[in-house]
Amino acid sequence: MPIETNLTSVLGAYHALELALEHNCPVLQTSTSEVYGDPEVSPQKETYRGSVNCFGPRACYDEGKRAAEALFYDYQQQKNANIRIVRIFNTYGPGMLPNDGRVVSNFINQALRNEPITVYGDGLQTRSFCYVDDLIDAILVVYNSEYKKPVNIGNPTEFTMLELAEKVIEITGSSSEITFHPLPTDDPLQRRPDITLAKSIGWDGPRISLGKGLENTVYYFRELMNGV
Ligand code: UDP
Repeated sequence: MPIETNLTSVLGAYHALELALEHNCPVLQTSTSEVYGDPEVSPQKETYRGSVNCFGPRACYDEGKRAAEALFYDYQQQKNANIRIVRIFNTYGPGMLPNDGRVVSNFINQALRNEPITVYGDGLQTRSFCYVDDLIDAILVVYNSEYKKPVNIGNPTEFTMLELAEKVIEITGSSSEITFHPLPTDDPLQRRPDITLAKSIGWDGPRISLGKGLENTVYYFRELMNGV
């Protein structure tokens, strides 16, 4: 739904900003690491301007979220809106939809059914996965601060998708085999947050390891499959 994705990113931000001004309250934008596109530097600091393809299948989200950040800036400059912006890196945990198509939900649900694990590309692309509780802690720290520029939130520990697949198979005790499929267009090769800024604002950094977080998430998906 690329048109809806693009318009929701921009018009949603616009409506939230207008509402915040009307009610004289702060407004927090949940931005994304996608603003960095397929980054040429690692880890990514907030000052990195990104490498986004503005004319491709990911552009609706990447550019939509970039435009939303710009709109937050404009509302602060022009109308003195009380803004916060967090750039959220890959997040996972209980509460995810089993069919959202993201890698953690796909791999766990495939493993629990002993179906083939679908690795896209050679599986050597990396992501840094942050457990949802750590994300929420960090969002509250930024929200309660006076910092009004974008802040990265994520877990800087980087894994390849092959490592993730192996970890999921190990935790679930699955007999699934790893299979390889084409890499989607413009899929970033690497992604890792620099969280120095978030820490300087008062976040202690992530507490939950990928192993522990995946165990909790597997438990959640198992219960969901069993209709609990
Ligand atoms: N991916 C994969 N198998 C899947 C789903 C995703 O190998 O079944 C890969 C995808 O190509 C990407 C990474 O996992 O390199 C993370 O994908 P996701 O959609 O979860 O997040 P994003 O690409 O937005 O970081």
